[in-house]
Amino acid sequence: MTQISPQPGIMDITLYQGGAANVPGLENVVKLSSNENPLGPCDAAAEAFRRASYSLHRYPSSDHAPLRRAIGEVLDLDPDRIICGAGSDEIIAFLCQAYAGPDTEVVHTEHGFGMYRINALAAGATPVEVKERERVTDVDALLAACTEKTRLVFMANPNNPTGTMIGTAEVARLAAGLPQGALLVLDGAYAEYVEGYDGGAALVDSRDNVVMTRTFSKIHGLGGLRIGWGYGPKHVIDVLNRVRGPFNVSQAALNAAEAAIRDTAYLAHCRVENARWRGWMADALAEIGVPSDVSCTNFVLARFASAQEASDCNDHLTAQGLLVRPVGSYKLPQCLRITVGDEASCRRVVHVIRQFKEGPADDTNL
Ligand SMILES: *Cc1c(COP(=O)(O)O)cnc(C)c1O
Repeated sequence: MTQISPQPGIMDITLYQGGAANVPGLENVVKLSSNENPLGPCDAAAEAFRRASYSLHRYPSSDHAPLRRAIGEVLDLDPDRIICGAGSDEIIAFLCQAYAGPDTEVVHTEHGFGMYRINALAAGATPVEVKERERVTDVDALLAACTEKTRLVFMANPNNPTGTMIGTAEVARLAAGLPQGALLVLDGAYAEYVEGYDGGAALVDSRDNVVMTRTFSKIHGLGGLRIGWGYGPKHVIDVLNRVRGPFNVSQAALNAAEAAIRDTAYLAHCRVENARWRGWMADALAEIGVPSDVSCTNFVLARFASAQEASDCNDHLTAQGLLVRPVGSYKLPQCLRITVGDEASCRRVVHVIRQFKEGPADDTNL
């Protein structure tokens, strides 16, 4: 008997590797591998989640109107052009399902988020990887890679795992230069970490070929609930809603996200704390010979002398119960991506890396 075969592209997918969450035999591990907010969600979001436990037998809202309205109010966006998904991952999947397919191309940056390639392949499209310039998105290279087969161009700004970002004028130049029939997808998973940055919302408003994705998983501290959203031209949102399941996100997630988006003071607090410890960690690492690019996110991409040194350091960290993210699969084998944790975690990770760099002998002031 011959086995049933999946659609073309699917067997080319390499399984997504999430950040490690535990070390066998160790308790109290510090997880700095998935860019989670160490402070967690705001109190109002946690309370909204608990309240949802009284209505677990009810199907959730299918139009997500209250959450879309709240996002619209807080960020001054048109709620009719917002779509909510089970994480922004689902919005990325909708985009690929709706616009990409066999004999089309999906462009993404060299060190871009792994889900772009996975969803392109799942849709039967051909992923096209475009070189960056020293870990920074290269608009000219992206434009040069576009053909009449290009349907989607994905870039995260700021980007994961590099932490770098490019300016609004450069992004606008990319959007303006895309071929007819291609959409620019601006992944704004880390947009809130950049004070005063709209994630590309104004560019969405001024054009008909730009979509922005956002998430509640990062600064809002709700990664466990799976809720994100997209903002785009009316014609795109109309298409995405046709492939979206009616009950794709839970009521608990909708309610918690609504509370989270309205708590702008908590968000500002998280941004300030993150910037403070990010700066401290990057400086402390640089002092011990581990440089990084200036990060616009909630992680630092620490660069080691070689892939071997990064791997050895990762082993050393893991043995001490500190989980960071090796990024060899992002073509950065000489780097480790370290999420900005709370003060204690930042101090601990720097201490252990210093220990690794300087050897065990000099370990007198624990
Ligand atoms: C974390 C992250 C996401 C968000 O994923 P969710 O599905 O919303 O949890 C999207 N894009 C990038 C670049 C990310 O790092």
